[in-house]
Amino acid sequence: MCGIVGYIGHRNVSDFLIEGLNRLEYRGYDSAGVATFDANGAISLRKRAGRVCELSEAIDRDPVEGTVGIGHTRWATHGKATDENAHPHTGGNGEVVLVHNGVIENYASLRGQLQALGYVFRTETDTEVIAHLIAHHLDEQIKLGGEPESEDTLLKAVEVSLRKLKGTYGLAVLFRARPDLILAARNGSPLVVGVGPGEHFVASDPSPLLGYTEQVVYLADHEIAILTADRLDLRHRDSGRLSPSVQTLDQVSADIDKGDFEHYMLKEIFEQPQTIENAMRGRFEEDEATAKFGGLNLTAQQLRHIDRIVLTACGTSWHAALVGEYLIEEFARVPVEVEYASELRYRNPPLTDKTMVFAITQSGETADTLAAMRECQRKGMPSLAICNVVGSTIAREADGGVYLHAGPEIGVASTKAFTSQVTVLTLLALYFGRMRHLSYQAGKRMINNLKALPEVVARTLECHDAVQEIASRYLGMDNFLYLGRLYNFPVALEGALKLKEISYVHAEGYPAAEMKHGPIALIDERTPSVFVVPRCGIYPKVISNMEEVKARKGPVIAIACEGDREVADVADDVIYVPEVDEYLQPIVTSIPLQMLAYHIALLRGCNVDRPRNLAKSVTVE
Ligand code: GLU
Repeated sequence: MCGIVGYIGHRNVSDFLIEGLNRLEYRGYDSAGVATFDANGAISLRKRAGRVCELSEAIDRDPVEGTVGIGHTRWATHGKATDENAHPHTGGNGEVVLVHNGVIENYASLRGQLQALGYVFRTETDTEVIAHLIAHHLDEQIKLGGEPESEDTLLKAVEVSLRKLKGTYGLAVLFRARPDLILAARNGSPLVVGVGPGEHFVASDPSPLLGYTEQVVYLADHEIAILTADRLDLRHRDSGRLSPSVQTLDQVSADIDKGDFEHYMLKEIFEQPQTIENAMRGRFEEDEATAKFGGLNLTAQQLRHIDRIVLTACGTSWHAALVGEYLIEEFARVPVEVEYASELRYRNPPLTDKTMVFAITQSGETADTLAAMRECQRKGMPSLAICNVVGSTIAREADGGVYLHAGPEIGVASTKAFTSQVTVLTLLALYFGRMRHLSYQAGKRMINNLKALPEVVARTLECHDAVQEIASRYLGMDNFLYLGRLYNFPVALEGALKLKEISYVHAEGYPAAEMKHGPIALIDERTPSVFVVPRCGIYPKVISNMEEVKARKGPVIAIACEGDREVADVADDVIYVPEVDEYLQPIVTSIPLQMLAYHIALLRGCNVDRPRNLAKSVTVE
């Protein structure tokens, strides 16, 4: 979480920093701040609790100058969202100024040691210890004879300090003695360096660089980048100097505009016919009635050898993984387990070299998912990624994988990434199935259905007006149940999560039949149940569950197939979606639930794209 941005070159630094922080704001928006060098080499600081726009207004009133600086938009882990706790933080007597993404786990003991040495702490953050620690080691290096302005002295002070930190960091550091230098370091929190003629950039992800440069260097853990306007040096903690591997970005800046939509979330919901098509493009092997993937990096023989698959993820991606479990077990008959990454990383389940792991993540930076994947790799299991952000840490460290190609997802509540993940998992089920028991004809049918899907999803979007109208009638309710069975059980979980995330309304997702084992006690006139009930093998059973709710005076909203009259006799409100085969239903039925959450949140006056307490890319544990 949190967004870091930095620049050194010839441009007006404050314009770049504010624009970059706006682009990174999806990562955190508790407070924001910048530090810049003015023409006389003095450092100016501006920090504000709240959104980036509040910082921007403060800078309009009291501008900062210069062409070198760093900025931060925070997702607080230690200390409240106040002006004081906002980054950048200063160390010593202002010799060091830095921004940090991550958590320093041993900050309390370091703070005690530094206080004993006379350092005065002004904030409640864990970050401030890094600033004082570097200032302290800078002082030590100088006492040992280091030149205060020498790059070598500064670098040593940083290297010694970083060795003392336990936890995670992405850092951008300014030194009062060197207005021509930025140091950037990473361990566990992402950082990318942008390379341009006579200028360098640093950021938590490439979005602030779009429109400025396409040449980037992704930092790996334990690397430090030394940036001047016209020089980039890279060092690794253990192996010393490295030569930077420069890559070209393939994103276009138009992807990060809202277009004609009021919010990113709505734009991203409406992009789904296209993003689903992108997830499938070039991935059909029609003659063999199967799917193909360019980046799995495993031979067909290795893949046939697999006798168990673990899907690990967090949040919405975990719901996509649950759909994946149903798909892969149905079509490939391979046992699948879905593990919360935050649990898997510390559990020790009996996995073997015949177990294949897929880490599923939109951002490719989710700290828990990365740690779970690394743990599985350490134990020798092939670990692949299903990920959206090209070049992200998980994409780079996985043994292979599949990109979603959904384009940047900016809305904090994931929508298009979910349906793309499910699409890719359907292709994987087809692929693993055709290696095992699935017939040619069945494979062909799946391909035909998948190819028709973008058009079906475009028709699904036509329910938007109906959803908006229904949302206006339920906006006063404070508790919802979301219920579905089989493929629509994970959809119920995802629908409930969407509502919680952006409207702050309490919602629970359950398998519809489980309701009678507890949650039915919650049903009353003010607790609506959203039933996901498209036609399927157990449709009559779900209708019975719905009757059970109605018998207890619970309002019912149903997501049902076009032309279904029976459901309308029981439910109070029905949202109709096109009929598809059961295994494709999650892609279709999740869409009205995304819209329902969006409209309820909007009507309740919530900030849909920036929900409170959340951030898009969860890079802390
Ligand atoms: N742990 C730091 C803080 O609470 C950084 C959090 C972040 O990554 O935004 O200030």
